Amino acid sequence: MTAKLFSELNLSPELLKAIDRLGYEKATPIQAETIPLLLDGRDVIGQSQTGSGKTAAFAIPLIERTDPQQGVVQAIILCPTRELAVQVAEDVFKLAVFKQGLHCVPIYGGQSYDRQLRALRQGAQIVIGTPGRVLDHLSRGTLRLDQVRMAVLDEADKMLDMGFREDIEEILRAVPSTRQFICFSATFSKPIQELIRTFGRDPQNVRIEHKMLTVPTVEQTYYEIHGRSKTEVLTRLIDFLDLKLAIIFCNTKRMVDDLADELVARGYLADRLHGDMSQAQRDRVMQKFRTGNLEFLVATDVAARGLDVENVEVVFNYDLPWDEEDYVHRIGRTGRVGRSGRAISFAAGREIYKLQSIERYARTKILRRMPPSLEQIEEKRTSVFFERIRSALLQDGFQAEQDIVDRLLEQGFLSTDIACAAIQELRKDDNRRVEVSPRPPSAEAAEEPFGGRRRDGKGDRRSRPRPSRPKRPHRNRG
Ligand code: AMP
Repeated sequence: MTAKLFSELNLSPELLKAIDRLGYEKATPIQAETIPLLLDGRDVIGQSQTGSGKTAAFAIPLIERTDPQQGVVQAIILCPTRELAVQVAEDVFKLAVFKQGLHCVPIYGGQSYDRQLRALRQGAQIVIGTPGRVLDHLSRGTLRLDQVRMAVLDEADKMLDMGFREDIEEILRAVPSTRQFICFSATFSKPIQELIRTFGRDPQNVRIEHKMLTVPTVEQTYYEIHGRSKTEVLTRLIDFLDLKLAIIFCNTKRMVDDLADELVARGYLADRLHGDMSQAQRDRVMQKFRTGNLEFLVATDVAARGLDVENVEVVFNYDLPWDEEDYVHRIGRTGRVGRSGRAISFAAGREIYKLQSIERYARTKILRRMPPSLEQIEEKRTSVFFERIRSALLQDGFQAEQDIVDRLLEQGFLSTDIACAAIQELRKDDNRRVEVSPRPPSAEAAEEPFGGRRRDGKGDRRSRPRPSRPKRPHRNRG
């Protein structure tokens, strides 16, 4: 599957701007296949897993085909659980942020009817809900679906497993039969096929087929870690493995920017590579990486395509890739020309399923590892430092330094104390600086001075105190 940019999908400027703001660089395979069909008004049956980008695959065309001028429900998305309904609503909200007048509302059990009623009365056009609560609103007459033009079943197999079949059928019968029918499911059991036969109209099947690739012989491991701890574990691993050349893959341009900044703030020689940078900027970064003036390249898949650098020790999947093929492409950046290499992935929660599907596709085993403790890292740092001093001693030739030592001895200091003080000074952070590519202006950054606000509302990184963790000690690039 060739990568498609969102700009190739005939989307409105408002959606392209929202997608850019989310930092998505290219459409995932399911998005590249599904979006054109749905924009065309076709019914679609999609086979996809969580983590494939399926929500945006249906949400983007839904938003495009909704008329913000009409304050009636035009699209309904049914989800098995309240958590998924809320998550889908958040995604729709973020994608619709520049579509003036477009409102979406999540409707699920456990939340007060009043709040949902208010949102519905305000004229929400997209409703995202669990079948039980949607049916409640329908029977109370607080939700009307007679103007609906698009109906989506998200994780249909799960909804049927949970016993929602009759509810779903009743809801779909309340929707005009001319509506577009969209059904996403990981599996297609008999009951789902029956549902599709009843409600679909010449639906198009979208299933992502992969071509088989040769998987390089690379040691593959993973660490089970949640979002916020990822950077901490990454830096621990870099220190523990004493890495000097690694590529770190993220799924969005924004994540690449954030992580590159954070690594630099922690004292690593890191820089970024993604699609918003000019060719000249990219060339500069690659030149630094090739010549060893850069240790850690943080990149997106698009930017790193075809990248060929020798001696890359580790490829990190800071974010797991969407596509199993991308995983194989990524890990092929290490272990080149017969050298051994390593691929280290971070995964948490439901991403474990994604790992399993990568394992199946690549016919490989990705082994779980535990992150090294702070004590192990300190021990490692000490032994690396010890080796450095030892090899310097073996090389001899301290003409320039001898004069300083003589002067200190004359002042009565002990030779062992002089050595200890010198080592202590050496181990302090050397604050090595590297020229880092500036963050390219994004749609958001252009609207706000100083590079824009973080999405989590914590403000500009530069105004925040630096991490309190001790910085990386100076290492000898030998
Ligand atoms: P989903 O499979 O819909 O649950 O999506 C999983 C995650 O991927 C969500 O956090 C989305 O925000 C994110 N996502 C969806 N599409 C893309 C894309 N094209 N590029 C990067 N991230 C994406």
